[in-house]
Amino acid sequence: MSRILLQGGRVIDPSQHVDRVTNLLIDDGKIAAYDAQPTGEETVVDASGKIVSPGLIDMHVHLRQPGREEDETIATGTAAALAGGFTSIACIPNTEPPIDTQANVAFVLDQAAKADNCNVFVVACVSRGREGKELAEIGQLVQAGAVAFSDDGAPVYDPELMRRAFEYCQMFGKPILNHAEVRELTTGGVMHEGLVCLVLGLSGMPAEAEDVMTSRDISLAEATGGHIHLMHVSSAGSVDMIRRAKVRGVHVTTEVCPHHFTLTDECLRTFDSKFKMSPPLRGQRHVDACVAGLVDGTIDVICTDHAPHAAEKKMEPLDRAPFGIVGLETALGLVVTKLVEPGHLDWSTAIEKMTINPAKILDLDKGTLQVGADADVTVIDPDVRWVVDATNFCSRSRNTPFDGWSLRGRGNVVIVGGQIKHVVDKHVIDKRVVDSK
Ligand SMILES: [Zn+2]
Ligand SMILES: [Zn+2]
Repeated sequence: MSRILLQGGRVIDPSQHVDRVTNLLIDDGKIAAYDAQPTGEETVVDASGKIVSPGLIDMHVHLRQPGREEDETIATGTAAALAGGFTSIACIPNTEPPIDTQANVAFVLDQAAKADNCNVFVVACVSRGREGKELAEIGQLVQAGAVAFSDDGAPVYDPELMRRAFEYCQMFGKPILNHAEVRELTTGGVMHEGLVCLVLGLSGMPAEAEDVMTSRDISLAEATGGHIHLMHVSSAGSVDMIRRAKVRGVHVTTEVCPHHFTLTDECLRTFDSKFKMSPPLRGQRHVDACVAGLVDGTIDVICTDHAPHAAEKKMEPLDRAPFGIVGLETALGLVVTKLVEPGHLDWSTAIEKMTINPAKILDLDKGTLQVGADADVTVIDPDVRWVVDATNFCSRSRNTPFDGWSLRGRGNVVIVGGQIKHVVDKHVIDKRVVDSK
């Protein structure tokens, strides 16, 4: 396998507290050496002025296949991941059929291998058929390769089922990823319940719908010793509860999506369904709480909740259009533009939340540039300004509220297992193979 020398980049690897300009050598698919010098036998990537980061990980992606290939496929979703700078993703099992059997896990892994883009890790269903009635075969699914369990798209509703799920998943050291929402409080809702909602005359989804379920999940995790990972946190109340639970030593982790630290419910004044997601965009107070949670470490992970929907579905009127937006190809730019540039997070902390933290939660051998680790690397251009053009997305769907936005920062060279999989700026790569005598 080929050798690649990443020359003169600022290597930031929070897993080893590394932040310095150096040369990094990749050999035979692994991180081979720091401070390496060119020998003339490797592909040289000029990384000067760039950040060399462990390959980014998105632990919350809806790939839609099987069943909804008109929205996304495993091939197009993983291509979108590479275009966004991600080398690994975890896919959520609310497909049709849902990923609740060993055969379905194998199908996803097989399609991902065929696509040969980024690494794909499978999250399997908590309940059989995602029906929330009986537990899926947790042990068998772990054997097939499932890294976590979730009924996302919907919460695990029955608290008794959730309690048993914690007990089972704990035996295998796996987290439960829950979508925290009390449905009785959100029935018919299209946006956050607040002043804007009242003015627009739309039906609301109050923050308490999230808070009450977050509280239940923390209680059950605390009682069982299980690991709850709260998905797409969006409310000030939830961030506060998670912060306090962490202090008590509860095994709770959480994630936030770029739209929830970037946009507010004011966007719904356009009545554009590209601003419709679940949980909904909330008021500024909640956005500020999410940013504060990122800053003080309450929020461990930044993920996308990439939720592709074909154009004809999102064209429906607001009350009928589906929830969710695509996120893989805009996430890094939003993190840089909205968190790093304004000084909320330094580079190391931002990268930590997109590499080693999700790797630890899912227990993956990823997210690090330690010598001997898999050579998954994202070379980030931290300064480049670019304009989001959804027509150029690799994703099959275009449902983004960020089309036309000017963002800073982008993955420039994306390396998976020692192979260059995606390049924006081709001139940084110079293959200089000389006679080895
Ligand atoms: Zn969800
Ligand atoms: Zn989701």
